[in-house]
Amino acid sequence: MRTLITNGTVVNADGSTQADVLVDKETIAAVGRGLAGLDLAAGVERTIDATGKYVIPGAIDVHTHMELPFGGTFAKDTFETGTRAAAFGGTTTIIDFAVQSKGKSLREGLDAWHAKAEGNATTDYGFHMIMSDVNEATLAEMDTLVAEGVTDFKLFTAYPGVFYSDDGAIFRAMQQTARNGGTILMHAENGMAIDVVAEQLVAAGKTDPYYHGVARYPIFEGEATNRVIRLAEAAGVPVYIVHLSARDALEEVRAARDRGSMAYAETCPQYLFLSLEDMGGGFNGAKFVCSPPLRPADHQADLWRGLVKDDLQVVSTDHCPFDFHDQKQLGVGDFRKVPNGLPGVEDRVDLMHDGGVVGGHLTKERWVEVVSAAPARLFGLAGVKGVVAAGADADLVVYDPARKHKISAKSHHMNVDYSIYEGRSVTGGSDVVLSRGRVIVENGEWKGERGWGRFLRRKTAREYLT
Ligand SMILES: [Zn+2]
Repeated sequence: MRTLITNGTVVNADGSTQADVLVDKETIAAVGRGLAGLDLAAGVERTIDATGKYVIPGAIDVHTHMELPFGGTFAKDTFETGTRAAAFGGTTTIIDFAVQSKGKSLREGLDAWHAKAEGNATTDYGFHMIMSDVNEATLAEMDTLVAEGVTDFKLFTAYPGVFYSDDGAIFRAMQQTARNGGTILMHAENGMAIDVVAEQLVAAGKTDPYYHGVARYPIFEGEATNRVIRLAEAAGVPVYIVHLSARDALEEVRAARDRGSMAYAETCPQYLFLSLEDMGGGFNGAKFVCSPPLRPADHQADLWRGLVKDDLQVVSTDHCPFDFHDQKQLGVGDFRKVPNGLPGVEDRVDLMHDGGVVGGHLTKERWVEVVSAAPARLFGLAGVKGVVAAGADADLVVYDPARKHKISAKSHHMNVDYSIYEGRSVTGGSDVVLSRGRVIVENGEWKGERGWGRFLRRKTAREYLT
């Protein structure tokens, strides 16, 4: 199958140009002007007119949790429904977190995630590995996983008793990763201190979801961020801070980068567009319970500045949807029992276009960089995903920068009963979405297929990080 996308503005992280894009089977064969008239384009079966539109590399969301078990329930999107919703929003690759449960091997966790995804995902996907136990056996397994294309490992300074690792365990995993070429991902909040405050709040009768946001002080995120970056410096390993939400943490990342540390960080749309005030309104605030929590609104300007100055390299979603009408109800009377997580995989590209490009914070090239190119570079997919160039996978989005629409649970495709952005108007939307050369979304209609998505064996990213 050969497809020609004509007359669009091709937007890459390093520049934009008026050009046609020729797709041959699953890859991009050529990018250039006037391709239609050339021999090269012989045998084109389908032409897509992109006049007035952008042609961007399919976006990459490196932080999703499909079917994550949490607090006695499961995140509702499967690899089928989650990747489908992602594709409607212009995201054609996800990197999801496989989970090692306490006492089990990394292999068992990874196999379980392969089983969830294979035959179900509608777009390509990769895995990070969450480590709950660090011991001789799991340390040895890390090297095997890197060789299989699962090249990074996430550890937590939060959630004591569940995912929490102490500093010694974190440091050992970092040393191992420094040797095997992978990257360490950190959920950086001081979980021990948070639990103290949370217990005091509940004892004082402050049990509403709002107090989830109060208990997790920004300074607890700043402290843990500094600590894990310092440990990573000592181990000589790249470290990537997931879902950075607070100015306090950003300051630590910036300081580390200024001293030449291999420190990287992502933020998420919820921290740029929502705030602690959204967690008010009684139990309705449970819709917004995630960790780290939404912050006071004055943190937002700092995060935008972090994206502009590249102290934040990536915007991902931490997509982890739980229905409000049953799952979130587990936390009635005690905010500590609300399942942590928000839906978002479908909305990221449009929100970042609307708030970032239309809002005047980001150029359209920087927008493409934070949602697609930088994730590819930092997570071992450079040259394959995240770029519109000959030889790359034909994951492409014909994007209408002028289309206005309203975000709503009534029209979204995520398998969850509410939207955290309900009623918000955004400018920009994906018209046509291709995954490896195949049109999977066209003008709001689903044309994709369950099981089309393939597992991505990622390279180590070390060469791009140093
Ligand atoms: Zn997460």
